[in-house]
Amino acid sequence: MVLEKKSKGFPRPHPQKNKYLAIKNIMSSTDLTLDAQEIHFILKDWLNLSRLTEYECFKDFDEETVEMLLEEGMRFAIDVVAPSRMESDRIGCSMENGRIKSPECMKEPYRKGFELGWAALNASPEYGGQGAPASVGLAVNEGVNAGNPGLSAHFALTTGAARLVESFGTDDLKKKYIMKMNRGDFNGTMCLSEPHAGSDVGAGLTSAEACGDGTYRIKGTKSWISNGDTDLAENTIHAVLARIKGAPDGTAGLSLFLVPHTLVEEDGSLGEWNDVTVASIENKMGLHSSPTAMLKFGENGNCRGWLLGEENKGMSCMFQMMNEARIGTALIGLANGAAAYHNALSYARERVQGVHISKVRDVDAPRVAIIEHPAVRHNLMQMKSKVEGMRALLYATANALDELTCLDKEDPLYETNSMLLDILTPLCKGWCAETGIDTVRTAIQVLGGVGYTKD
Ligand SMILES: Cc1cc2nc3c(=O)[nH]c(=O)nc-3n(C[C@H](O)[C@H](O)[C@H](O)COP(=O)(O)OP(=O)(O)OC[C@H]3O[C@@H](n4cnc5c(N)ncnc54)[C@H](O)[C@@H]3O)c2cc1C
Repeated sequence: MVLEKKSKGFPRPHPQKNKYLAIKNIMSSTDLTLDAQEIHFILKDWLNLSRLTEYECFKDFDEETVEMLLEEGMRFAIDVVAPSRMESDRIGCSMENGRIKSPECMKEPYRKGFELGWAALNASPEYGGQGAPASVGLAVNEGVNAGNPGLSAHFALTTGAARLVESFGTDDLKKKYIMKMNRGDFNGTMCLSEPHAGSDVGAGLTSAEACGDGTYRIKGTKSWISNGDTDLAENTIHAVLARIKGAPDGTAGLSLFLVPHTLVEEDGSLGEWNDVTVASIENKMGLHSSPTAMLKFGENGNCRGWLLGEENKGMSCMFQMMNEARIGTALIGLANGAAAYHNALSYARERVQGVHISKVRDVDAPRVAIIEHPAVRHNLMQMKSKVEGMRALLYATANALDELTCLDKEDPLYETNSMLLDILTPLCKGWCAETGIDTVRTAIQVLGGVGYTKD
Protein backbone atom coordinates (compact mmCIF):
# COMPACT_ATOMS: atom_id res chain seq x y z
CA MET A 1 0.00 0.00 0.00
CA VAL A 2 2.98 2.31 0.35
CA LEU A 3 4.03 3.85 -2.91
CA GLU A 4 7.25 5.41 -4.00
CA LYS A 5 7.92 8.13 -6.52
CA LYS A 6 11.01 7.94 -8.67
CA SER A 7 13.75 10.22 -7.38
CA LYS A 8 14.05 13.45 -9.38
CA GLY A 9 16.96 15.81 -8.86
CA PHE A 10 17.20 15.82 -5.11
CA PRO A 11 16.72 13.17 -2.43
CA ARG A 12 13.18 11.92 -2.07
CA PRO A 13 11.59 10.08 0.85
CA HIS A 14 12.00 6.31 1.06
CA PRO A 15 8.87 4.23 1.20
CA GLN A 16 8.21 2.96 4.68
CA LYS A 17 7.34 -0.62 5.49
CA ASN A 18 3.79 -0.38 6.67
CA LYS A 19 2.06 -3.28 8.34
CA TYR A 20 -0.84 -1.43 9.92
CA LEU A 21 -1.88 1.16 7.40
CA ALA A 22 -4.37 2.90 9.65
CA ILE A 23 -1.89 3.52 12.42
CA LYS A 24 1.31 4.24 10.55
CA ASN A 25 2.45 7.04 8.34
CA ILE A 26 1.22 6.69 4.80
CA MET A 27 3.46 7.89 2.04
CA SER A 28 2.27 8.51 -1.44
CA SER A 29 3.26 8.63 -5.04
CA THR A 30 2.88 12.42 -4.76
CA ASP A 31 5.14 12.76 -1.74
CA LEU A 32 2.19 13.51 0.52
CA THR A 33 2.75 11.94 3.91
CA LEU A 34 -0.15 11.82 6.34
CA ASP A 35 0.60 11.13 9.95
CA ALA A 36 -2.06 8.49 10.45
CA GLN A 37 -0.41 7.20 13.61
CA GLU A 38 -0.58 10.60 15.28
CA ILE A 39 -4.17 11.23 14.12
CA HIS A 40 -5.15 7.84 15.42
CA PHE A 41 -3.50 8.56 18.78
CA ILE A 42 -5.34 11.88 19.17
CA LEU A 43 -8.74 10.50 18.24
CA LYS A 44 -8.57 7.14 19.96
CA ASP A 45 -6.23 7.40 22.91
CA TRP A 46 -6.47 11.07 23.80
CA LEU A 47 -10.04 12.07 22.91
CA ASN A 48 -11.54 8.59 23.37
CA LEU A 49 -13.70 9.09 20.32
CA SER A 50 -15.50 5.77 20.67
CA ARG A 51 -17.42 7.13 23.68
CA LEU A 52 -19.49 9.12 21.14
CA THR A 53 -21.17 5.83 20.16
CA GLU A 54 -23.08 6.11 23.45
CA TYR A 55 -25.04 8.94 21.86
CA GLU A 56 -27.83 8.07 19.44
CA CYS A 57 -26.61 10.38 16.64
CA PHE A 58 -23.16 8.76 16.46
CA LYS A 59 -24.02 5.22 17.49
CA ASP A 60 -22.81 3.77 14.18
CA PHE A 61 -19.32 5.28 14.45
CA ASP A 62 -17.58 2.59 16.46
CA GLU A 63 -13.82 2.16 16.48
CA GLU A 64 -13.74 -0.19 13.53
CA THR A 65 -15.90 2.09 11.37
CA VAL A 66 -13.83 5.15 12.24
CA GLU A 67 -10.59 3.33 11.43
CA MET A 68 -11.99 2.24 8.10
CA LEU A 69 -13.11 5.82 7.31
CA LEU A 70 -9.71 7.23 8.25
CA GLU A 71 -7.83 4.70 6.19
CA GLU A 72 -10.00 5.04 3.11
CA GLY A 73 -10.23 8.83 3.47
CA MET A 74 -6.46 9.16 3.60
CA ARG A 75 -6.10 6.84 0.65
CA PHE A 76 -8.52 9.09 -1.27
CA ALA A 77 -6.48 12.17 -0.29
CA ILE A 78 -3.25 10.55 -1.41
CA ASP A 79 -4.35 8.72 -4.56
CA VAL A 80 -7.05 11.01 -5.96
CA VAL A 81 -6.59 14.49 -4.47
CA ALA A 82 -2.85 15.03 -4.07
CA PRO A 83 -1.94 14.36 -7.75
CA SER A 84 -3.97 17.49 -8.68
CA ARG A 85 -2.20 19.84 -6.29
CA MET A 86 0.81 21.08 -8.24
CA GLU A 87 -0.89 21.29 -11.60
CA SER A 88 -4.02 23.03 -10.33
CA ASP A 89 -1.91 25.57 -8.47
CA ARG A 90 0.30 26.17 -11.51
CA ILE A 91 -2.59 26.55 -13.96
CA GLY A 92 -4.96 28.31 -11.56
CA CYS A 93 -8.50 29.47 -12.27
CA SER A 94 -9.36 31.76 -15.17
CA MET A 95 -12.29 33.74 -16.58
CA GLU A 96 -13.91 32.58 -19.81
CA ASN A 97 -17.00 34.30 -21.23
CA GLY A 98 -17.83 35.82 -17.86
CA ARG A 99 -17.61 32.52 -15.96
CA ILE A 100 -14.85 30.94 -13.90
CA LYS A 101 -12.99 27.96 -15.27
CA SER A 102 -11.20 25.65 -12.84
CA PRO A 103 -8.13 23.63 -13.84
CA GLU A 104 -9.11 20.43 -15.67
CA CYS A 105 -7.25 18.25 -13.15
CA MET A 106 -9.66 19.38 -10.39
CA LYS A 107 -12.61 17.73 -12.10
CA GLU A 108 -11.98 14.13 -11.14
CA PRO A 109 -11.13 14.72 -7.47
CA TYR A 110 -14.13 17.08 -7.17
CA ARG A 111 -16.51 14.56 -8.70
CA LYS A 112 -15.14 11.57 -6.78
CA GLY A 113 -15.06 13.52 -3.50
CA PHE A 114 -18.81 14.04 -3.70
CA GLU A 115 -19.63 10.69 -5.30
CA LEU A 116 -17.74 8.67 -2.69
CA GLY A 117 -19.13 10.72 0.20
CA TRP A 118 -15.88 12.33 1.42
CA ALA A 119 -17.01 15.90 0.74
CA ALA A 120 -20.23 15.56 2.74
CA LEU A 121 -18.91 13.26 5.46
CA ASN A 122 -20.41 15.41 8.25
CA ALA A 123 -23.64 16.31 6.46
CA SER A 124 -26.96 14.88 7.69
CA PRO A 125 -27.84 11.46 6.28
CA GLU A 126 -31.31 12.92 5.65
CA TYR A 127 -29.69 15.13 3.01
CA GLY A 128 -27.23 12.74 1.43
CA GLY A 129 -24.43 13.04 3.99
CA GLN A 130 -22.71 10.39 6.11
CA GLY A 131 -23.56 11.97 9.51
CA ALA A 132 -20.01 11.39 10.78
CA PRO A 133 -18.67 13.21 13.86
CA ALA A 134 -16.95 16.55 13.11
CA SER A 135 -13.68 15.16 14.49
CA VAL A 136 -13.69 12.30 11.97
CA GLY A 137 -14.52 14.72 9.16
CA LEU A 138 -11.65 16.92 10.30
CA ALA A 139 -9.21 14.01 10.17
CA VAL A 140 -10.18 13.08 6.61
CA ASN A 141 -10.18 16.73 5.63
CA GLU A 142 -6.66 17.14 7.01
CA GLY A 143 -5.59 14.75 4.26
CA VAL A 144 -7.75 16.38 1.56
CA ASN A 145 -6.48 19.82 2.58
CA ALA A 146 -2.85 18.73 2.48
CA GLY A 147 -3.60 17.07 -0.87
CA ASN A 148 -5.18 20.19 -2.42
CA PRO A 149 -6.44 23.06 -0.24
CA GLY A 150 -8.49 24.51 -3.13
CA LEU A 151 -10.49 21.31 -3.41
CA SER A 152 -10.98 21.18 0.34
CA ALA A 153 -12.35 24.76 0.16
CA HIS A 154 -14.92 23.65 -2.42
CA PHE A 155 -16.05 20.77 -0.21
CA ALA A 156 -16.20 22.86 2.97
CA LEU A 157 -17.94 25.93 1.52
CA THR A 158 -20.51 23.94 -0.41
CA THR A 159 -21.51 21.69 2.49
CA GLY A 160 -21.29 24.67 4.90
CA ALA A 161 -23.72 26.68 2.77
CA ALA A 162 -25.98 23.60 2.55
CA ARG A 163 -25.96 23.42 6.36
CA LEU A 164 -27.13 27.06 6.48
CA VAL A 165 -30.12 26.09 4.34
CA GLU A 166 -30.75 23.11 6.62
CA SER A 167 -30.63 25.28 9.76
CA PHE A 168 -32.48 28.36 8.52
CA GLY A 169 -34.26 27.54 5.24
CA THR A 170 -37.93 26.77 4.61
CA ASP A 171 -38.92 23.21 3.74
CA ASP A 172 -39.18 24.25 0.12
CA LEU A 173 -35.62 25.60 0.04
CA LYS A 174 -34.32 22.51 1.84
CA LYS A 175 -35.97 20.25 -0.72
CA LYS A 176 -34.67 22.21 -3.68
CA TYR A 177 -31.08 22.83 -2.66
CA ILE A 178 -29.51 20.75 0.11
CA MET A 179 -29.25 17.38 -1.59
CA LYS A 180 -27.89 18.93 -4.79
CA MET A 181 -25.25 20.79 -2.78
CA ASN A 182 -24.22 17.77 -0.73
CA ARG A 183 -23.82 15.85 -3.99
CA GLY A 184 -21.68 18.62 -5.52
CA ASP A 185 -24.15 19.36 -8.35
CA PHE A 186 -24.40 22.86 -6.87
CA ASN A 187 -21.43 24.79 -5.48
CA GLY A 188 -21.85 27.00 -2.38
CA THR A 189 -20.35 30.27 -1.12
CA MET A 190 -20.49 32.72 1.78
CA CYS A 191 -20.82 36.38 0.76
CA LEU A 192 -20.04 38.86 3.52
CA SER A 193 -17.18 41.09 2.30
CA GLU A 194 -17.65 44.13 0.09
CA PRO A 195 -15.01 46.39 -1.44
CA HIS A 196 -15.24 48.91 1.41
CA ALA A 197 -16.55 46.50 4.10
CA GLY A 198 -14.03 43.82 5.10
CA SER A 199 -13.38 43.52 8.84
CA ASP A 200 -16.26 45.97 9.30
CA VAL A 201 -18.97 43.68 7.88
CA GLY A 202 -21.70 45.93 9.26
CA ALA A 203 -20.69 48.67 6.77
CA GLY A 204 -22.01 46.48 3.92
CA LEU A 205 -24.23 48.26 1.36
CA THR A 206 -25.80 45.31 -0.43
CA SER A 207 -29.55 45.83 -0.26
CA ALA A 208 -32.66 43.66 -0.33
CA GLU A 209 -36.16 44.81 -1.18
CA ALA A 210 -39.23 42.67 -0.59
CA CYS A 211 -40.97 41.78 -3.87
CA GLY A 212 -44.26 40.89 -2.17
CA ASP A 213 -44.15 37.22 -3.29
CA GLY A 214 -41.84 36.01 -0.53
CA THR A 215 -38.68 36.79 -2.49
CA TYR A 216 -36.36 39.82 -2.26
CA ARG A 217 -34.64 41.86 -4.92
CA ILE A 218 -30.88 41.83 -4.14
CA LYS A 219 -28.49 44.55 -5.30
CA GLY A 220 -24.83 45.09 -4.46
CA THR A 221 -21.22 44.01 -4.88
CA LYS A 222 -19.46 41.30 -2.88
CA SER A 223 -15.70 40.89 -2.99
CA TRP A 224 -13.18 38.17 -2.11
CA ILE A 225 -15.79 35.44 -2.52
CA SER A 226 -14.11 32.02 -2.36
CA ASN A 227 -15.38 29.68 -5.08
CA GLY A 228 -17.61 32.55 -6.23
CA ASP A 229 -18.29 30.63 -9.44
CA THR A 230 -17.04 27.38 -10.95
CA ASP A 231 -17.46 25.04 -13.88
CA LEU A 232 -17.00 22.09 -11.52
CA ALA A 233 -20.72 22.32 -10.66
CA GLU A 234 -23.79 23.19 -12.70
CA ASN A 235 -24.92 26.04 -10.44
CA THR A 236 -23.60 28.16 -7.55
CA ILE A 237 -25.69 28.95 -4.49
CA HIS A 238 -24.64 32.08 -2.62
CA ALA A 239 -25.37 32.79 1.05
CA VAL A 240 -25.51 36.60 0.96
CA LEU A 241 -25.68 39.16 3.75
CA ALA A 242 -27.80 42.15 2.70
CA ARG A 243 -29.76 44.95 4.36
CA ILE A 244 -33.52 45.06 3.89
CA LYS A 245 -34.64 48.59 3.06
CA GLY A 246 -35.29 50.50 6.33
CA ALA A 247 -33.32 48.03 8.53
CA PRO A 248 -30.93 49.43 11.19
CA ASP A 249 -27.32 50.29 10.35
CA GLY A 250 -24.45 47.95 11.29
CA THR A 251 -24.57 44.18 11.68
CA ALA A 252 -27.90 44.44 13.55
CA GLY A 253 -29.60 45.29 10.27
CA LEU A 254 -28.19 42.50 8.12
CA SER A 255 -30.31 39.60 6.88
CA LEU A 256 -29.19 36.39 5.22
CA PHE A 257 -30.39 35.35 1.77
CA LEU A 258 -30.04 32.36 -0.47
CA VAL A 259 -29.20 33.65 -3.95
CA PRO A 260 -28.69 31.12 -6.75
CA HIS A 261 -26.59 32.07 -9.76
CA THR A 262 -29.21 30.36 -11.93
CA LEU A 263 -32.80 30.00 -10.76
CA VAL A 264 -33.97 26.49 -9.89
CA GLU A 265 -37.41 25.38 -11.06
CA GLU A 266 -39.92 23.47 -8.94
CA ASP A 267 -38.88 20.16 -10.54
CA GLY A 268 -35.21 20.87 -9.74
CA SER A 269 -34.20 21.75 -13.29
CA LEU A 270 -32.24 24.93 -14.00
CA GLY A 271 -34.18 27.99 -15.11
CA GLU A 272 -33.13 31.52 -16.02
CA TRP A 273 -29.95 33.34 -15.07
CA ASN A 274 -30.51 35.20 -11.76
CA ASP A 275 -28.56 38.37 -12.63
CA VAL A 276 -25.39 37.39 -10.71
CA THR A 277 -22.26 38.51 -12.59
CA VAL A 278 -18.67 37.49 -12.00
CA ALA A 279 -16.86 40.84 -12.29
CA SER A 280 -13.32 39.50 -11.82
CA ILE A 281 -11.12 37.00 -10.03
CA GLU A 282 -8.29 37.98 -7.72
CA ASN A 283 -4.68 37.31 -8.67
CA LYS A 284 -3.64 35.76 -5.34
CA MET A 285 -0.16 34.88 -4.06
CA GLY A 286 -1.21 31.26 -3.62
CA LEU A 287 -4.25 28.94 -3.36
CA HIS A 288 -4.71 29.30 -7.11
CA SER A 289 -6.99 26.28 -7.38
CA SER A 290 -9.64 28.12 -5.38
CA PRO A 291 -11.08 31.10 -7.29
CA THR A 292 -11.64 34.26 -5.25
CA ALA A 293 -14.18 36.41 -7.05
CA MET A 294 -15.83 39.79 -7.10
CA LEU A 295 -19.54 39.33 -7.73
CA LYS A 296 -22.20 41.80 -8.77
CA PHE A 297 -25.75 41.01 -7.72
CA GLY A 298 -28.69 42.61 -9.53
CA GLU A 299 -26.92 44.94 -11.95
CA ASN A 300 -30.02 44.67 -14.13
CA GLY A 301 -32.46 44.81 -11.21
CA ASN A 302 -33.37 41.13 -11.64
CA CYS A 303 -31.58 39.25 -8.86
CA ARG A 304 -33.87 37.32 -6.52
CA GLY A 305 -33.02 36.10 -3.05
CA TRP A 306 -34.83 33.97 -0.47
CA LEU A 307 -34.59 34.83 3.24
CA LEU A 308 -32.74 32.36 5.48
CA GLY A 309 -33.78 32.73 9.14
CA GLU A 310 -35.43 35.90 10.39
CA GLU A 311 -35.09 39.42 9.04
CA ASN A 312 -32.16 41.33 10.64
CA LYS A 313 -30.80 38.13 12.22
CA GLY A 314 -28.50 37.37 9.29
CA MET A 315 -25.25 37.89 11.15
CA SER A 316 -26.03 35.38 13.87
CA CYS A 317 -27.16 32.83 11.23
CA MET A 318 -24.02 33.44 9.18
CA PHE A 319 -21.88 32.80 12.27
CA GLN A 320 -22.67 29.10 11.89
CA MET A 321 -20.79 29.06 8.58
CA MET A 322 -18.18 31.61 9.68
CA ASN A 323 -17.22 29.38 12.60
CA GLU A 324 -16.89 26.41 10.25
CA ALA A 325 -14.77 28.58 7.95
CA ARG A 326 -12.57 29.57 10.90
CA ILE A 327 -11.87 25.89 11.57
CA GLY A 328 -11.30 25.41 7.83
CA THR A 329 -8.70 28.20 7.78
CA ALA A 330 -7.02 26.71 10.85
CA LEU A 331 -6.95 23.35 9.08
CA ILE A 332 -5.00 24.87 6.17
CA GLY A 333 -2.37 25.87 8.75
CA LEU A 334 -2.25 22.37 10.24
CA ALA A 335 -2.43 20.40 6.97
CA ASN A 336 0.19 22.44 5.16
CA GLY A 337 2.41 22.69 8.24
CA ALA A 338 2.26 18.91 8.69
CA ALA A 339 2.95 18.22 5.00
CA ALA A 340 5.90 20.65 5.10
CA TYR A 341 7.25 18.98 8.25
CA HIS A 342 7.17 15.52 6.69
CA ASN A 343 8.85 16.74 3.52
CA ALA A 344 11.58 18.46 5.56
CA LEU A 345 12.05 15.37 7.73
CA SER A 346 12.44 13.08 4.74
CA TYR A 347 14.86 15.47 3.09
CA ALA A 348 16.94 15.88 6.26
CA ARG A 349 17.27 12.10 6.55
CA GLU A 350 18.72 11.87 3.04
CA ARG A 351 20.55 15.08 2.27
CA VAL A 352 24.23 14.53 3.08
CA GLN A 353 26.12 17.70 3.91
CA GLY A 354 28.92 18.49 6.38
CA VAL A 355 30.42 16.36 9.13
CA HIS A 356 29.14 15.42 12.55
CA ILE A 357 29.64 18.13 15.19
CA SER A 358 31.91 15.82 17.21
CA LYS A 359 34.28 15.48 14.23
CA VAL A 360 34.58 19.02 12.93
CA ARG A 361 38.37 19.00 13.21
CA ASP A 362 38.75 15.64 11.48
CA VAL A 363 39.43 16.32 7.77
CA ASP A 364 38.74 12.67 6.94
CA ALA A 365 35.42 12.54 8.78
CA PRO A 366 32.57 11.11 6.71
CA ARG A 367 29.80 13.46 5.57
CA VAL A 368 26.51 12.89 7.39
CA ALA A 369 22.83 13.44 6.68
CA ILE A 370 21.81 16.94 7.79
CA ILE A 371 19.43 15.44 10.37
CA GLU A 372 22.60 14.73 12.39
CA HIS A 373 23.24 18.47 12.85
CA PRO A 374 21.79 19.87 16.11
CA ALA A 375 20.49 23.05 14.42
CA VAL A 376 18.54 21.02 11.85
CA ARG A 377 17.23 18.68 14.56
CA HIS A 378 16.14 21.72 16.54
CA ASN A 379 14.19 23.02 13.53
CA LEU A 380 12.57 19.63 12.98
CA MET A 381 11.62 19.24 16.65
CA GLN A 382 10.11 22.72 16.65
CA MET A 383 8.04 21.88 13.58
CA LYS A 384 6.93 18.56 15.03
CA SER A 385 5.80 20.11 18.30
CA LYS A 386 3.93 22.91 16.51
CA VAL A 387 2.17 20.45 14.20
CA GLU A 388 1.17 18.25 17.14
CA GLY A 389 0.01 21.30 19.09
CA MET A 390 -2.13 22.51 16.18
CA ARG A 391 -3.60 19.05 15.73
CA ALA A 392 -4.43 18.64 19.41
CA LEU A 393 -6.11 22.06 19.58
CA LEU A 394 -8.14 21.56 16.41
CA TYR A 395 -9.26 18.00 17.10
CA ALA A 396 -10.22 18.85 20.69
CA THR A 397 -12.32 21.73 19.33
CA ALA A 398 -14.05 19.45 16.82
CA ASN A 399 -14.63 16.98 19.64
CA ALA A 400 -16.30 19.69 21.76
CA LEU A 401 -18.56 20.37 18.75
CA ASP A 402 -19.42 16.65 18.56
CA GLU A 403 -20.41 16.68 22.25
CA LEU A 404 -22.54 19.74 21.65
CA THR A 405 -24.27 18.06 18.71
CA CYS A 406 -25.26 15.12 20.89
CA LEU A 407 -26.17 16.89 24.14
CA ASP A 408 -29.62 18.00 25.08
CA LYS A 409 -29.88 21.78 25.47
CA GLU A 410 -31.06 21.26 29.07
CA ASP A 411 -27.93 19.28 29.95
CA PRO A 412 -25.59 21.42 32.11
CA LEU A 413 -22.68 20.26 29.93
CA TYR A 414 -24.30 21.89 26.89
CA GLU A 415 -23.54 25.40 28.09
CA THR A 416 -20.00 24.44 29.17
CA ASN A 417 -19.24 23.00 25.74
CA SER A 418 -20.87 25.90 23.98
CA MET A 419 -18.70 28.41 25.90
CA LEU A 420 -15.61 26.28 25.29
CA LEU A 421 -16.32 26.40 21.54
CA ASP A 422 -16.79 30.17 21.66
CA ILE A 423 -13.29 30.50 23.08
CA LEU A 424 -11.54 27.78 21.09
CA THR A 425 -12.86 28.50 17.58
CA PRO A 426 -11.25 31.95 17.04
CA LEU A 427 -8.16 30.70 18.88
CA CYS A 428 -7.86 27.83 16.39
CA LYS A 429 -8.11 30.21 13.43
CA GLY A 430 -5.65 32.79 14.72
CA TRP A 431 -3.05 30.47 16.18
CA CYS A 432 -3.09 27.67 13.59
CA ALA A 433 -3.00 30.09 10.64
CA GLU A 434 0.06 31.84 12.08
CA THR A 435 1.73 28.65 13.33
CA GLY A 436 1.16 26.92 9.99
CA ILE A 437 3.07 29.71 8.25
CA ASP A 438 5.86 29.50 10.86
CA THR A 439 6.12 25.76 10.30
CA VAL A 440 6.32 26.06 6.52
CA ARG A 441 8.96 28.80 6.88
CA THR A 442 11.11 26.48 9.01
CA ALA A 443 10.64 23.69 6.45
CA ILE A 444 11.94 26.00 3.73
CA GLN A 445 15.02 26.55 5.91
CA VAL A 446 15.63 22.79 6.34
CA LEU A 447 15.27 22.22 2.60
CA GLY A 448 17.96 24.80 1.79
CA GLY A 449 17.90 26.02 -1.83
CA VAL A 450 15.43 23.28 -2.75
CA GLY A 451 12.96 24.95 -0.37
CA TYR A 452 12.83 27.99 -2.61
CA THR A 453 12.32 26.22 -5.94
CA LYS A 454 9.59 24.23 -7.64
CA ASP A 455 9.82 20.71 -9.07
C1 LIG B 1 -8.14 34.14 0.01
C2 LIG B 1 -9.28 34.89 0.58
C3 LIG B 1 -10.54 34.31 0.59
C4 LIG B 1 -11.63 35.02 1.12
N1 LIG B 1 -12.86 34.43 1.09
C5 LIG B 1 -13.94 35.15 1.49
C6 LIG B 1 -15.26 34.60 1.34
O1 LIG B 1 -15.45 33.47 0.89
N2 LIG B 1 -16.31 35.37 1.71
C7 LIG B 1 -16.15 36.62 2.23
O2 LIG B 1 -17.15 37.25 2.55
N3 LIG B 1 -14.91 37.16 2.38
C8 LIG B 1 -13.81 36.46 2.02
N4 LIG B 1 -12.54 36.99 2.17
C9 LIG B 1 -12.41 38.34 2.70
C10 LIG B 1 -11.89 38.36 4.11
O3 LIG B 1 -12.88 37.93 4.98
C11 LIG B 1 -11.44 39.80 4.34
O4 LIG B 1 -10.21 39.94 3.64
C12 LIG B 1 -11.29 40.13 5.77
O5 LIG B 1 -12.56 40.24 6.34
C13 LIG B 1 -10.52 41.44 5.97
O6 LIG B 1 -11.09 42.46 5.21
P1 LIG B 1 -10.19 43.41 4.30
O7 LIG B 1 -9.39 42.56 3.40
O8 LIG B 1 -11.09 44.42 3.68
O9 LIG B 1 -9.19 44.10 5.30
P2 LIG B 1 -9.46 45.41 6.18
O10 LIG B 1 -10.73 45.25 6.93
O11 LIG B 1 -9.33 46.60 5.33
O12 LIG B 1 -8.27 45.31 7.19
C14 LIG B 1 -6.93 45.69 6.86
C15 LIG B 1 -6.08 45.54 8.12
O13 LIG B 1 -6.57 46.40 9.17
C16 LIG B 1 -6.88 45.63 10.33
N5 LIG B 1 -8.10 46.21 10.94
C17 LIG B 1 -9.27 46.49 10.33
N6 LIG B 1 -10.14 46.98 11.22
C18 LIG B 1 -9.51 47.01 12.42
C19 LIG B 1 -9.88 47.43 13.74
N7 LIG B 1 -11.10 47.89 13.99
N8 LIG B 1 -8.96 47.30 14.72
C20 LIG B 1 -7.71 46.82 14.46
N9 LIG B 1 -7.30 46.41 13.24
C21 LIG B 1 -8.20 46.52 12.24
C22 LIG B 1 -7.14 44.23 9.85
O14 LIG B 1 -6.92 43.26 10.85
C23 LIG B 1 -6.12 44.12 8.70
O15 LIG B 1 -4.85 43.81 9.23
C24 LIG B 1 -11.44 36.31 1.66
C25 LIG B 1 -10.16 36.88 1.67
C26 LIG B 1 -9.11 36.19 1.14
C27 LIG B 1 -7.75 36.84 1.16
